[in-house]
Amino acid sequence: MAVRGRLAPSPTGMAHLGNAWAFLTAWLAVRSQGGELVLRMEDLDLERSSVVFMQLLMSDIRWLGLDWDEGPTPERELAQYHQSNRFGLYEEMLERLRGSGLAYPCFCSRKDLLLASAPHLGDAGHAYPGTCRHLSPEEVRARLEAGGRAAWRFRSDGRAYEFNDLVLGPQRATLEECGGDFSMRRPDGVFSYQLAVSVDDGLMGITQVVRGRDILPSTPRQLAILDALGMARPAYAHIPLLMGEDGERLAKRHASLSLDALRTRGVRPWRVIGLLASIAGLIDRREEVHPRDLVPLFDITKLRCHDYPVSQADLDWLES
Ligand code: GLU
Repeated sequence: MAVRGRLAPSPTGMAHLGNAWAFLTAWLAVRSQGGELVLRMEDLDLERSSVVFMQLLMSDIRWLGLDWDEGPTPERELAQYHQSNRFGLYEEMLERLRGSGLAYPCFCSRKDLLLASAPHLGDAGHAYPGTCRHLSPEEVRARLEAGGRAAWRFRSDGRAYEFNDLVLGPQRATLEECGGDFSMRRPDGVFSYQLAVSVDDGLMGITQVVRGRDILPSTPRQLAILDALGMARPAYAHIPLLMGEDGERLAKRHASLSLDALRTRGVRPWRVIGLLASIAGLIDRREEVHPRDLVPLFDITKLRCHDYPVSQADLDWLES
């Protein structure tokens, strides 16, 4: 079966070196296996997402010499590849889960509203204590009639989810270890990242997910949804993160390292690719390289699994 991967950026800010690393790896993992790549805009967070960031992301990906086979382009919008246009599908899938008793309403007022955004390190944070898990149907009705607004949570049965990560090896975790019964829809109706991404990976026939290892705690939750909906599981590769000299991951807050800023300062894209490839050990030393030249060398299962330090010398080289 042909490999089908995806690029799934959240258009909530400018792409930075860390995103370039994730795009490059996802692209190489697909191209090295002769597969196809879907671009999906994860714009669930309507307030923070913008068309400007979407356009920039697509230009950045192209600037890096990467491409995709399916999805929107800077020239052509394709609504079905934007999560903001897929709420009807998410509701349908949530309804199925309700029907099979795997979703229950939760009236707790929690600060879990952030769940709709993409996860961050340690996002599983505090485990949900299961407060609303055993509410009787009468109680649920009474609360709804009294105007209570509910989140919808996945009901765990305590099982462990196992998968073989293409980079990290065998993984096993229960939902309890990843934060307990998780939210699939917030009380204000916004679908959570977990629901949207699982439904999309399932419906879009994604067979291979390549993403940062900070998202690992989300994977058992996504497997739970995929399994419950009878959708095929993709293979997962959780890749190392790029870490700055301060020990922090290179993230959006390093504004001077946004791809847009680098491009504006005259940095050549093949230099960015060459830096990433040398940091990851795909090539022996820093040199300019086109992504297509990395395709024959690439094997996702051979990636070193510890995070990659990016030194000031590396960054200076980019602009030298
Ligand atoms: N949209 C997420 C992000 O940009 C990626 C989610 C995923 O790959 O599952 O962080």
